[in-house]
Amino acid sequence: MNIPPFQARIEDFPPEGQKDSGSSIVYWMQSAQRFEDNMALNYAAAEAERNNLPFHIIFCLDTSYPDASARHFWFMIQGLQEIAAECRKTSVNFSVLPGSPPEVFSREDLHRHLGGIRLLVTERSYLRHLRLWRKDVAAQINSRGGRFIQLDSEVLVPHNLVSSKKEYAAATIRKKITSQWLPYLRGERHERQFYMGPVSGYLSETREKTESEIPLSLNNEELIQLTSYDDFTALLTRRGMHAPSPVPAPVDTFRGGSNAAHERLERFLNEDFPRYGEIRNDPGNPVQSDLSPYLHFGMISVLRIAWSTVEAAEDLRQYPKRNSEAVPDESLEAFLEELIVRRELAKNFVRFESRYDSYEGIPEWAAKSLEEHAGDPREHLYSLKELEEGRTYDPYWNACQLEMVKTGKMHGYMRMYWGKKVLEWSKSPREAFEHLLYLNNRWELDGRDENGYTGVSWCFGTHDRGWKERPIFGKIRYMNDKGLERKFDIKSYAQKWLD
Ligand SMILES: Cc1cc2nc3c(=O)[nH]c(=O)nc-3n(C[C@H](O)[C@H](O)[C@H](O)COP(=O)(O)OP(=O)(O)OC[C@H]3O[C@@H](n4cnc5c(N)ncnc54)[C@H](O)[C@@H]3O)c2cc1C
Repeated sequence: MNIPPFQARIEDFPPEGQKDSGSSIVYWMQSAQRFEDNMALNYAAAEAERNNLPFHIIFCLDTSYPDASARHFWFMIQGLQEIAAECRKTSVNFSVLPGSPPEVFSREDLHRHLGGIRLLVTERSYLRHLRLWRKDVAAQINSRGGRFIQLDSEVLVPHNLVSSKKEYAAATIRKKITSQWLPYLRGERHERQFYMGPVSGYLSETREKTESEIPLSLNNEELIQLTSYDDFTALLTRRGMHAPSPVPAPVDTFRGGSNAAHERLERFLNEDFPRYGEIRNDPGNPVQSDLSPYLHFGMISVLRIAWSTVEAAEDLRQYPKRNSEAVPDESLEAFLEELIVRRELAKNFVRFESRYDSYEGIPEWAAKSLEEHAGDPREHLYSLKELEEGRTYDPYWNACQLEMVKTGKMHGYMRMYWGKKVLEWSKSPREAFEHLLYLNNRWELDGRDENGYTGVSWCFGTHDRGWKERPIFGKIRYMNDKGLERKFDIKSYAQKWLD
């Protein structure tokens, strides 16, 4: 079988006139917050092993991270606790350092302590500020004679093999992905070619642990012992660090970390997956995987999800569940369409549309059409506060807003309805765009993600086509409550969240 080249995932930034200076290999953990199935981590560990050099994992704790609140931080800290515990068990150096990555990697004492960084590896990211971080950190490492490598580990098919331009719609990127995804989907037989599995598999057992706590690191034992968000803020105060915004508060509907992510995946595949193809859009009968918060923080690998899903579909085909109307092929197709095609289309959008987080990033035809309807009368207008508190005349809209506020995750189908209504109820499409992005990034646990920017932009015509012209919306696709009532038991859904 043709094994896909791992090489296609690598972007290498060697320093000028490289002399292999520095005596440590570092994995900078940022978007892939997991111990297992972490390609960049495993690749860095394998390089350390090959060169017989000390190996460190560094995580930069930036409590001023854009739009991140207590809700996001506590979810993330729960994941970091697991990683710290795993590293302790396997004697891998893991340091959580206060500050943004450019701040951390400009610290001379850090470089001195590590004896210079010969190679720094991280995963690739697509959002603007994360790309800028990487550029800055690469320059820091290169200027000291070290090499910087980023790995495109958070997508199934390496992005460079898929597209080198902004794709117009799912229809234009789908074939580019599906025509080459088979070897990637069959990857479970080739774990090592993908650098999957636990990092301990890439480090020899006889390797000596370098006892070296990097100055200013958070104490791992203290980190592991935290049992509440308040404990975490107390730790920050002791360290003289600024605490993130306390609102939105943490939610207990989702526990952070890879263990919870794998439990969700398991449950999804055993219980809801067979019906996913048929009823994934029904908000009153939720069968979605609920994996988006975990994918956002990189607590689970997209490859692992894809492999497990393909296996589950094969099992269902071979051993259909008794009394089940399971349709493995339809479910598999629908799930991979979301997990791979739509998700990778979103990465393509933020990579190639520099204005992805603003109204200016919507397609020209859509902006023109909305402009032509800018003066249309609006029957209902709501302020950001009214929207945030779920105080519109529409119980279905209020319900999904409250679902997001209370649980940190709104049902996928309702996100589309939610966005379309705000367009209808705002003074201008630009204001609607800004309000949606604000609410999405603030309340969703999976917010601030490529999918969120693309999802909001989709409400304004991105990746869509023109529809029959109507007031306010122009040629933008329209949705209404009658559609919800016709298709779903939407009243029960509303009742659940309005109670
Ligand atoms: C206005 C709007 C805002 C959105 N905001 C976000 C957001 O902030 N973060 C986010 O991750 N998704 C967002 N989405 C996309 C989608 O609604 C969610 O990814 C999905 O509902 C997450 O739930 P799940 O993991 O249970 O999905 P499942 O149906 O189980 O799908 C599995 C995975 O596929 C991917 N996926 C599913 N639907 C989409 C989609 N339409 N586009 C891209 N990838 C998709 C996600 O990674 C998801 O975790 C938004 C969509 C819209 C219309």
